[in-house]
Amino acid sequence: MSLLELHDLAKSYGPVAALAGVDLAVASGTRTAIVGPSGCGKTTLLRLIAGFEAPDRGRIVLDGEVLADEAGAVPAHLRGIGLVAQDGALFPHLTVADNIGFGLARHAERRAERIAELAYIVGLDAAILKRRPHQLSGGQQQRVALARAMAMKPRLMLLDEPFSALDTGLRASMRKAVAELLEAAGITTILVTHDQAEALSFADQVAVMREGKFWQVGTPRELYLKPKDRMVAEFLGEALVLPARIAEGFAETPLGRIALETRERRDIARIMLRPEQVTLERASRQEAAAARPGLLYGEVTESEFAGASCAVAVKLLNSPDPPEAAAIGGRPLMLRKAGVDAPAVGEVVLIRVVGTAHVLA
Ligand code: ATP
Repeated sequence: MSLLELHDLAKSYGPVAALAGVDLAVASGTRTAIVGPSGCGKTTLLRLIAGFEAPDRGRIVLDGEVLADEAGAVPAHLRGIGLVAQDGALFPHLTVADNIGFGLARHAERRAERIAELAYIVGLDAAILKRRPHQLSGGQQQRVALARAMAMKPRLMLLDEPFSALDTGLRASMRKAVAELLEAAGITTILVTHDQAEALSFADQVAVMREGKFWQVGTPRELYLKPKDRMVAEFLGEALVLPARIAEGFAETPLGRIALETRERRDIARIMLRPEQVTLERASRQEAAAARPGLLYGEVTESEFAGASCAVAVKLLNSPDPPEAAAIGGRPLMLRKAGVDAPAVGEVVLIRVVGTAHVLA
């Protein structure tokens, strides 16, 4: 059952259409991630759901209750929605403990205990509970904001880049801890992030936003492996987009014949492979010169080491068929491989494709 429903939500600031008609259903107890380029309307959407702004058009329904439509809007503090803003938005005059406990009754039983528990959950040292926000780092402020929002036990939690001020290791562990925590508390969550990997690993549902609209909404797997178009494909990770001739469940491509998941009808199309679907095995020039039909060899022309990964450019040595080879205009394939044991410039490699290709719109 949907906890949150958005119907044709629109909001403009003067001539800027920040939201241009957004529809979304968020199932109860799930996590949705919204990704999209800067300025596409992500924060505006969260502010509308939280009740800090009113939509120009459309309807917001939470748990069957209309929160906003043309007739009016329920005030933010009555919505039961938690929002962790990008900058944390802490109360500067309150201590960390009082910020976290803001939504808890002053004389609530176990108040101090609950505050300490929340601080512990978000990884904050008890020693900083007496400090004020200006005495904290950006990452600590975000964690206080998260603990404060959790304390209120919201029906819906909105997270606007809550992990952005944290370094890589802490970011991953916080993300996991927060996901577990929200799940245990049964809190439905919407996360806005710039980090594609974060969106894919955190969420049950991902929405890719562009120019105030959702371009594609689906499971992380659907969006990563079956993006609607090149924009979604490249937004969610590195993609190898190749021209292809389509026939009977196969694509004839510059990398040879690759199976398709569906029987497409189009003749000419663009197909997408994720770089991890292309494997490179070291080979020799002699093997490449005497290549059996169907085996494809290349020469590494660039190899840029970046720690865990390495960007490798591979020039094809024996493309399967001149029209397909001509289609990529002799440009090398750009692949990202594991940094360990990546092939060096000048090495000859045997190229294989794993899995099926996806036809782009
Ligand atoms: P980012 O990822 O950079 O935070 P975003 O996707 O969250 O961006 P929004 O902050 O929602 O984008 O902004 C969407 C558009 O609306 C932008 O063009 C922005 O400049 C504009 N905008 C947002 N808030 C206002 C405002 N209060 N007044 C005028 N324009 C605004």
